[in-house]
Amino acid sequence: MSERLPPLVDTHCHLVLLEERGLLNQALEGALAAGVDEIISVGLNLDDSDQNRRIAEQHEGVYFTCGWHPHEKATPDAAQLHALAELLSHPKAVAVGEVGLDLFFRPGYHEVPLDVQERSFRLMLELARDAGKPVLIHDRDAHDEVLAAFAGVPGSRGVMHCFSGDAAFARRCAEQGFIASFSGIVTFPRAENIQDAARTVANDGYVVETDSPFLSPVPMRGRPNLPERVATTAAAVARLRGAPEAAVRAATTATAHRVLGIAARSTAATRE
Ligand SMILES: [Zn+2]
Ligand SMILES: [Zn+2]
Repeated sequence: MSERLPPLVDTHCHLVLLEERGLLNQALEGALAAGVDEIISVGLNLDDSDQNRRIAEQHEGVYFTCGWHPHEKATPDAAQLHALAELLSHPKAVAVGEVGLDLFFRPGYHEVPLDVQERSFRLMLELARDAGKPVLIHDRDAHDEVLAAFAGVPGSRGVMHCFSGDAAFARRCAEQGFIASFSGIVTFPRAENIQDAARTVANDGYVVETDSPFLSPVPMRGRPNLPERVATTAAAVARLRGAPEAAVRAATTATAHRVLGIAARSTAATRE
């Protein structure tokens, strides 16, 4: 096993939150050592998206997104929308996200009413459509509502982050232009539906992510997650698909580049 495996992309993590925990350098160095050459650092609101821009500007291989998370208590106003659109024109801004719907209401988690979430989500889908960008979707317990929102903004396309549906839902998403992104959840023992989706999605129909600092995969569960652990999730998906790890890594990286509009780098392009 001396041959180096193809590089990976962590398509969804939060470098600003890792920086707040004093883990940014460890996250970036560990990623490179693990062959995670590119990281998409995802914005949660206007200020957080701008912080992610700053980190992306400082580090090669780091890209960022402009988002308005469903836990945001108010919809973005006109000035905030304008600022998000400006940020989105940055050369390292690859997507709108994360945005979406979250029907898992719990005190201390979030209690934002669905109608507020739906207004924010629609504005963000329109922002992405107008900018010609893909969207990173947060869908917690809201599969049907999310698909209905896509139907309301034709031409929407992107990634279902932390994919949490079954194989049939993955097919419905694919029909709407959305690929699945598997996170450490796919390694959890009771995630049989998600594992079934990971077994059956098309070779070019999925990517992998960490959502770090959240959601460490087995066997690191309970510790702060880091982008390097996307390799653990890719290996788990390879086992589920009965495919070589190298093939899964190469396929997910090519898919991430295609969907997010990132040019393959010379180091990444030639290895198989
Ligand atoms: Zn999320
Ligand atoms: Zn996230």
